[in-house]
Amino acid sequence: MKIAIIGAGFTGLSAAYQLTKKGHSVTIFEKDLLPGGLAIGYQEKKWAWSLEKHYHHWFTNDKFILSLAKELGHKILVKTPKTSIYLDNEIHQLDSPLALLKFNKLTLAERLQMAATLALLRYNPFWKPLEKINALSILPRAMGQRAWKMIWEPQLRNKMGEYSDEISLVFFWTRVSKRTTSLAYPAGGFLSFAQKIVKATEEKGGKFYFNTEIKSITENEDGRITIKTGKKTETFDKAIVTLPSFLFLKLTPQLPDEYKNKLVRLRGLGATDLVLRLKKPFLPDNTYWLSICEKDSRVLVVVEHTNIMDKKNYNNEHLVYIGNYPKTDDPKFTMTKEELLKYYDPVLKRLNPDYKKNLIGYELFKAPFAQPIVPTNYSKLIPPMKTPLKNVFLANIEQVYPWDRGTNYAVELGQKVARLIEKNS
Ligand SMILES: Cc1cc2nc3c(=O)[nH]c(=O)nc-3n(C[C@H](O)[C@H](O)[C@H](O)COP(=O)(O)OP(=O)(O)OC[C@H]3O[C@@H](n4cnc5c(N)ncnc54)[C@H](O)[C@@H]3O)c2cc1C
Repeated sequence: MKIAIIGAGFTGLSAAYQLTKKGHSVTIFEKDLLPGGLAIGYQEKKWAWSLEKHYHHWFTNDKFILSLAKELGHKILVKTPKTSIYLDNEIHQLDSPLALLKFNKLTLAERLQMAATLALLRYNPFWKPLEKINALSILPRAMGQRAWKMIWEPQLRNKMGEYSDEISLVFFWTRVSKRTTSLAYPAGGFLSFAQKIVKATEEKGGKFYFNTEIKSITENEDGRITIKTGKKTETFDKAIVTLPSFLFLKLTPQLPDEYKNKLVRLRGLGATDLVLRLKKPFLPDNTYWLSICEKDSRVLVVVEHTNIMDKKNYNNEHLVYIGNYPKTDDPKFTMTKEELLKYYDPVLKRLNPDYKKNLIGYELFKAPFAQPIVPTNYSKLIPPMKTPLKNVFLANIEQVYPWDRGTNYAVELGQKVARLIEKNS
């Protein structure tokens, strides 16, 4: 079969690799110059490794992507970094039951209540009954009001903004049940791993067109699919679209209105990551992941990448992400890197008063669709992989539910859509 894949993020790469292994003729179109999608990396001149434009790691139970890395012989590093919260102007490590027991901002009874709720969520294997429950209707009581207000509510509201009141308990369940204290990372960075999948796919006959944006997808009378880029037009037996649904709609005008109306109900947040390059460490205590637990904080999360991966891979620079999830119509999404640094500066100075003296440079990266919104009963909103156009399949970040987005699930989804296409050939 002659198959087109739109997008060389991890879903597209995984599908392409599987389908070429089965002997199909696969062409991948990617608008960026490089593979990796949301997990794409960039590299400063003196760095030995690339760095993701948005912070990335794997959990050690991310079995789909870890198996793929093993199959391709890509080296994986496993580390146990520190995860903390910033509360009342102090950093508190909070990444294990023991750390929670030592957390003296809550009484012992409050700590035990929060620990019991987290344990219930973590060890409950059934997500389906949870999707009917609104997180805010139960978690404040279950966690305990003080723990909720202190730790969880600021994180939820600062991330989800106007959507906070709609979020389903499944969204919390997936985060609590999936996380592992040890984290994994591909040697060389996610870009290097994505390039390895490209190479393995090309060796099996796959063709990649980078810097090639798809402008339209059309179903012909014979059911075959015509893909148009700015420069060329090519016809395929099947096409897999890995873009978020709102982009799929834009490219495919033939989709029936009823289907379009369903897809426009899927909503998402954008992401901005300001990456600081510093001569000295930013966080004083070697924390890798710092959630800011303050109402209306200008910064959601600080991720010091070189507290998980060795700075020698980056010319001894200390690399820190300042992350947020604004919607694309939020002024924070359109700010320049200079404006954003100025906006973040009061928070950053509290964390490290001298950071500006050590600043080598900084970059800003933005993604318009970075986090699907998961309201109650989200399973009813998810579009299936089969679309109204018989030979066009959709496999995207909005379909990995009940899990939250992640490259592991992108790889799983790529494998699933590849199997579905074979079944429908
Ligand atoms: C801030 C942030 C932090 C994250 N942290 C983690 C983490 O720690 N661990 C983890 O595993 N995952 C993490 N994720 C999630 C992970 O990056 C995504 O779930 C995954 O990369 C999605 O892959 P995908 O292939 O489905 O989609 P995408 O990566 O979005 O791929 C779609 C591709 O389509 C291309 N494209 C778009 N339009 C066109 C067009 N018209 N023509 C051709 N190509 C087009 C895009 O350039 C892109 O390459 C994070 C994401 C963000 C934003």
